[in-house]
Amino acid sequence: MGDNVIPLADLRYAAERPRIPAELSLPSGLLPDRLGRPLRDLRISVTDRCNFRCSYCMPKEVFDRDYRFLPQSSLLSFEEITRVARAFVAHGVRKLRLTGGEPLLRKHLESLVGMLASLRTPEGDELDLTLTTNASLLERKAHALADAGLKRITVSLDALDDVVFRRMNDVDFPVADVLRGIDAALAAGLGPVKVNMVVKRGTNDHEIVPMARYFRERHGARVALRFIEYMDVGSTNGWRMDEVLPSAQVVERLSQVFPLEPVEATQPGETAQRWRYRDGAGEVGLISSVTQAFCRDCNRARLSTEGKLFLCLFATRGHDLRALLRGVQATGQPWTDAQIAAAIGLIWSERSDRYSELRSAEAPASDVGTRRVEMHYIGG
Ligand code: SAM
Ligand code: SF4
Ligand code: SF4
Repeated sequence: MGDNVIPLADLRYAAERPRIPAELSLPSGLLPDRLGRPLRDLRISVTDRCNFRCSYCMPKEVFDRDYRFLPQSSLLSFEEITRVARAFVAHGVRKLRLTGGEPLLRKHLESLVGMLASLRTPEGDELDLTLTTNASLLERKAHALADAGLKRITVSLDALDDVVFRRMNDVDFPVADVLRGIDAALAAGLGPVKVNMVVKRGTNDHEIVPMARYFRERHGARVALRFIEYMDVGSTNGWRMDEVLPSAQVVERLSQVFPLEPVEATQPGETAQRWRYRDGAGEVGLISSVTQAFCRDCNRARLSTEGKLFLCLFATRGHDLRALLRGVQATGQPWTDAQIAAAIGLIWSERSDRYSELRSAEAPASDVGTRRVEMHYIGG
């Protein structure tokens, strides 16, 4: 496709063309944004497609047969993703998470895992390379991913009850296959596995204790179950505050059955508050993006499937890195790695996003009219 042909789907979210600073300084790895937050975590969406239709993420009514997903030519190639990731690592990123859509739907994903696994920090250390998946294809792919260099994995599972789970994924996918995927990941050495459960009051909150019981009893410390507050991300899921079950209530319900004690955070920017079972059977995490915002320590950037950089899950505008990867300077020369790294540095240094802190329970969608980015497009 020629440079001046822009696939229609590219226009779905506004994006700015990044500026290249006149003076290129070498990345220090310590770059603060406007609120003093360093850049440590890059989430890379490798596809906007998914074989599930979870109502809180890709409701069937919107993401139907007529929905236009990104064309293949829009997607960043594995080489392009690795080039961008290398620049981020120079700026201090230590953790890469592959996500989507459903990342295991991207063909030959193990090749990308291999390419990213070969990146090193300026000190020569390996990166923390992980992936979030609905596990529908995990049983088949766990070994290949581990062999390619994936370190850990996060699996999403919203219920143990097959009827509830099939309804929530809305494609009639059975729980048993996800559980087999988790077993396969552990067998492949991808543990400890994190299991994410999005809690929707009235839909799956009665599954909190059964989920905890299953993972405690079957896997102990090899699986950390994390309860995620249902978020008002995107603009298609019809989010309502009364469907959010605050994490404090999750802890309360769990403690009645399995006594818990808090665990100190080990790293700044950790999204989950951790609690351990007093009897030593492992721990759980609580991700309270709605009731206890953690923007103050947010050190994450997100790269969309088509190469737009988003500085916040609730952003309405991205920064079009693909324009630099595929475009040319006025001289006709391609942009250099140093120029691309400098552009990324400038974008991060101007970041001041803190949506969750600013959100008030009364007016969660204060930016109605501006289209917020969807979760399946930039990943969780
Ligand atoms: N398809 C993969 C999966 O489901 O694990 C990866 C992408 S998915 C967008 C990443 C994570 O975002 C999942 O754990 C999912 O449950 C979570 N998620 C999606 N929409 C959400 C919402 N509205 N509130 C909270 N979490 C959400
Ligand atoms: Fe797909 Fe993950 Fe979104 Fe569910 S949460 S629809 S599995 S991308
Ligand atoms: Fe980070 Fe934005 Fe979430 Fe705050 S709302 S924690 S800035 S992604």
